[in-house]
Amino acid sequence: MNIQRNILLNPGPATTTDTVKMAQIVPDICPREREFGALMRELGTDLLKVVHADPADWATVLFCGSGTICMDACVSSLVPADGKLLIVNNGAYSARAVEMARAYSVPHIDLTFPVDGLPDLAAVEQTLNENPDISAVYTTHQETGTGILNPVREIGTLAHEHGAIMIADTISTYAMIPFSADEMNIDVCMSSAQKGIQGMTGLSYVLAKKSVLAAAKAYPVRSYYTNLIMQYEGFEQTGEMRFTPPVQTVYAARRALAEYFAEGETKKWARHTRTIDAIHAGLARLSLTEVIPREIQSGLVVAVAYPSADFDFTRVHDYCYARGYTIYPGKMQSASTFRLCALGAIDEADIQGFFRVFEEALNA
Ligand SMILES: *Cc1c(COP(=O)(O)O)cnc(C)c1O
Repeated sequence: MNIQRNILLNPGPATTTDTVKMAQIVPDICPREREFGALMRELGTDLLKVVHADPADWATVLFCGSGTICMDACVSSLVPADGKLLIVNNGAYSARAVEMARAYSVPHIDLTFPVDGLPDLAAVEQTLNENPDISAVYTTHQETGTGILNPVREIGTLAHEHGAIMIADTISTYAMIPFSADEMNIDVCMSSAQKGIQGMTGLSYVLAKKSVLAAAKAYPVRSYYTNLIMQYEGFEQTGEMRFTPPVQTVYAARRALAEYFAEGETKKWARHTRTIDAIHAGLARLSLTEVIPREIQSGLVVAVAYPSADFDFTRVHDYCYARGYTIYPGKMQSASTFRLCALGAIDEADIQGFFRVFEEALNA
């Protein structure tokens, strides 16, 4: 089968290999079969290896849904009735967690910082000192809207010093930036199959310390479908996902993960770095401005200022899209930006190809 290869420069879903696409073509199976349960269990254990988490102390909870379902599960399930969630918020994804806390009436503090810089750790510490009822701290590892990489390890240290757990939205760094969950002071993290592992959409996962899951059994159930503990215990008891899993996506995820381990985390990160370096070089050649200082960028996403006030993003997008390249709007309310991302099964040659088309688009 000859499948057209599109270069996705949006922040997920990412370009996948043909072998991952084809892994979805499997015989029909009822997901309640033991064979399928065993496949999901193995997948859960393998997903822990990506962040070097010990399966004795950690568990993976699989959900059928996009990455946001994991945020929903964590925000709604991991705060006791007499506790409080501190959200360290410097971008659109942490702001989404704040909206969830509001929607579920989870007691929370929205500690907001400007979207174009790092959070102020002294302010985080002061908030923790002043609010001893904070039981969990939440932040976003990479704010994908800007490409800023947040100091999760340092925020995690502060959380632990104050007896709180650390929840990190690692959806857009997991299986790309190599890290160990324990060394990063993370107690709960998450991702989605369409991002770092280069799989398909529809499967997402929360990785949590078993001690955290055990404690959260006593917490209020604020959501039925996305309750983390019900989903965890449901699988532990039956070997099945509580509700219908995304069957073919699970097969693709297994294949994607095998390709991840075959490439290796160091080589994969080197490939993403080559790719983003090619993006930096192409932007510099066209004298385009990156809006976030290089020192605080993740190395996966670049937010680019519109080259001029009359820049027509849609026209440039459509020109590139027709030629197999997808660019993406920005997510900064204060500035006119678009984004180029180095996620997915792409390499520097793809970026060189993109810039030839992009330059044509600007000229056209
Ligand atoms: C992609 C992403 C999500 C989830 O987005 P979905 O559209 O629900 O998959 C959440 N947080 C971050 C940081 C992301 O990059």
